[in-house]
Amino acid sequence: MKKHNFSAGPCILPKEVMQKASEAVVELDGSGLSLIEISHRSKAFVDIMETARSLALELLGLEGKGYQALFLQGGASSQFLNVAYNLLEKRAGYVNTGTWSLKAIKEARLFGEVMEVASSQEDNFNHIPKGYTIPGDMDYLHLTSNNTIFGTQIKEFPKTDVPLVCDMSSDIFSRQLDFSNFDLIYAGAQKNMGPAGTTLVVVKEDALGKVSRKIPSMLDYKVHINKDSMFNTPPVFAVYVSMLTLQWLKDLGGIAAIEEINDKKANLIYSEIDLNPVFSGFAAKDDRSAMNATFNITDDTLKETFDEMCKEAGINGINGHRSVGGYRASMYNALSLESVGALVDIMSELERKG
Ligand SMILES: *Cc1c(COP(=O)(O)O)cnc(C)c1O
Repeated sequence: MKKHNFSAGPCILPKEVMQKASEAVVELDGSGLSLIEISHRSKAFVDIMETARSLALELLGLEGKGYQALFLQGGASSQFLNVAYNLLEKRAGYVNTGTWSLKAIKEARLFGEVMEVASSQEDNFNHIPKGYTIPGDMDYLHLTSNNTIFGTQIKEFPKTDVPLVCDMSSDIFSRQLDFSNFDLIYAGAQKNMGPAGTTLVVVKEDALGKVSRKIPSMLDYKVHINKDSMFNTPPVFAVYVSMLTLQWLKDLGGIAAIEEINDKKANLIYSEIDLNPVFSGFAAKDDRSAMNATFNITDDTLKETFDEMCKEAGINGINGHRSVGGYRASMYNALSLESVGALVDIMSELERKG
């Protein structure tokens, strides 16, 4: 039976991408060789890497604006330290909006002074802090655009002269933003772009080279830029699948087109959460994420029935993260409106039964 995959990550990818990727593992484009057994220096793979890098910049509207796209390894978690290694000379600001922000703060503290300029920790991260003051004398301000675990999303980014760095792991390529407002954006592939194994880093070139410390080659963005993101053997499969997903997105009409669908999905589930007395939303309404909808069941005695109904309908991956409890429906780019409809049908059926 076809499953509706609401997994928070690694997550659903477009079916045609899966098909093409699985074929390429056996044989890449009629070459007689598998994608994963050819040299990363071969023309075939160099083309794949270059296409992936330029598609990323093109979709974000950053082509010809002094940015470079890199496909690195080590997950978004490595970027928590990489960002500080490359950009933190003296002092940086962090907005603490959840588990991932906290981890980023912890790593950055190894490299310099870190100021938590705002936090919603006291409320178990159920909202995005607003109206906070940003001191001017900071190397950068670090934000997490979408808080995967808590289901909150920054709708309006702070206006400041301080360079912005953003962890966009769980909502990159999902909505239109002026991406040129950021000096550096990073995102683990496995939420909205590809399989685990690569992390997209988009960096403004003139933001680099300002720290006095020596940077080990593997952690130095400049080294990776100078080697066209091929300083060492790149994760060829993850980069290839990411390229296919970006191509899929471009063919669909780019971020504007997917944003329209993502908005429909979000509206559908949140109106059910608000109308149905059996459920209550976790995140503050203004800050609700269009990617991860977090909600609770108000009557615990219905939980077993709901879980059973979900299972029967092929609804997969909606258990909430242990730090929030309840449920979390992740609705990344490749999840269809129809799948959200299937979940919403079960939710309203439960109300009728209960
Ligand atoms: C999943 C996630 C991460 C961690 O990514 P890894 O690739 O597993 O290191 C970091 N930030 C956010 C916002 C995430 O959703």
